[in-house]
Amino acid sequence: MSGNPMTGRAGARTDVQADVAVLGAGIVGVSAAIAARQQGMSVVLVDRREPGSETSYGNAGVLSSGSILPLNKPSLWRALPSYIANRHAALRWDPAWTIRNIDWVVRFLANATASQTRPRATALHGLIGASLKLHREWIAKAGAAPRLRETGWLKAWRSDATKAAKLEQGFLAEFGINSELLDRQAISALEPHIVPVYKVGLLHTQTASVDSPGAVVEAYARMFAASGGEIRRSEVNAIARHGERWHVALVDGAISARHVVVALGPWSADLLRPLGYRVPLAFERGYHREFRPNPARTLQRPIHDAEGSFLMTPMEQGVRVTTGVELTARDAPSSLAQLDAVVPLARGVVEFGEAVGEPWRGSRPTFPDSLPMIGAAPRHRGLWLAFGNQHIGFTTGPASGAAIAAMIGGATPSFDVRPFSPGRYL
Ligand SMILES: Cc1cc2nc3c(=O)[nH]c(=O)nc-3n(C[C@H](O)[C@H](O)[C@H](O)COP(=O)(O)OP(=O)(O)OC[C@H]3O[C@@H](n4cnc5c(N)ncnc54)[C@H](O)[C@@H]3O)c2cc1C
Repeated sequence: MSGNPMTGRAGARTDVQADVAVLGAGIVGVSAAIAARQQGMSVVLVDRREPGSETSYGNAGVLSSGSILPLNKPSLWRALPSYIANRHAALRWDPAWTIRNIDWVVRFLANATASQTRPRATALHGLIGASLKLHREWIAKAGAAPRLRETGWLKAWRSDATKAAKLEQGFLAEFGINSELLDRQAISALEPHIVPVYKVGLLHTQTASVDSPGAVVEAYARMFAASGGEIRRSEVNAIARHGERWHVALVDGAISARHVVVALGPWSADLLRPLGYRVPLAFERGYHREFRPNPARTLQRPIHDAEGSFLMTPMEQGVRVTTGVELTARDAPSSLAQLDAVVPLARGVVEFGEAVGEPWRGSRPTFPDSLPMIGAAPRHRGLWLAFGNQHIGFTTGPASGAAIAAMIGGATPSFDVRPFSPGRYL
């Protein structure tokens, strides 16, 4: 293992041997790599970019204890009429994509019933709990603890939405998730620098956040490298089973491994298609833009404007404003309509300066039931799938990866992985 472990630029190296090749160095892949290494396996982590450069870079950095309700829950039906005209900041949809992917859309909507929602909330609660435990442990071990804020997450309503907030609070309480109901004065006490536009707030007290999700993933990757793991920077072209091993074909070489973990986030389905897997993964695209903060008007925590359909988070570079969902092809050209709609609203809540850098776009990878795939590929021994973590992948990455490492080692994961079985779709 020579060369720079963070770049893998060590010249042409072919036929690297490892127990496990983890493909994709987003939060999910880095986590699988750390956990497999902790079990004493030899691990190569492959990515065409630096660790934590894609979806795991651009998210809102919320480590959410309370995001157990997926987007396709019963209240989606009430909201649907407001989405039809395709002008809502919460959801934009491409009609051509929708027709081409009507099967995914119908299956996604079919899950938005009360009876389909509670079991998924239970499943996500287990995954989230296990993940937050790992995040808190690893962020300290990786020397990135100063990036972690234990200040909660504020969901806020401009209208008198006390009933909706109480309903949410009650549902969360059934799972032991704490929150505090706030009125305008309490919100001002909590966030003294925002304009008092919100009438009602729900503070998720057990939720944390970080000031740079990309830097946290980088720190985790450094921790993996320091434990003897290898990071290879290269494009993965294909995978194939050769006897008892997997051959991972890279653009500049190859890896031979007993186990392969596919953790390529929104790109995962592409690699699996040649193996005969039709993976029903859609892309809930989202955008962010960062703005120079006003040092006299700082935010203490991420704020989710429930009716404005955006989130704003204090980040290392400035205030990061993130958007709702754009349902379209993963690689379709960007549309800044949602950002254009929400940035003025955010400016009306807290004063900030000019934009820092360009708008960013990413794709939340989502299955019709909004649960990730965590487990063995049904028809290939030694092939493991860990992707589809939708809106909460930065939160759920660690336990998703650790569960895969446990299963490879023949151990039982720390939460119930059955609802996440790849066999439900493949
Ligand atoms: C706007 C927005 C806001 C969000 N906010 C939050 C939040 O606040 N909290 C939260 O928990 N989650 C949030 N998410 C979701 C979260 O970011 C994702 O679910 C998560 O980052 C997915 O991680 P991943 O490791 O699966 O994928 P990625 O981070 O995308 O990693 C996949 C990796 O695979 C690599 N790759 C792909 N193809 C190849 C190839 N052929 N060869 C080599 N490498 C390849 C890529 O370079 C990439 O590094 C948000 C998402 C968006 C878009």
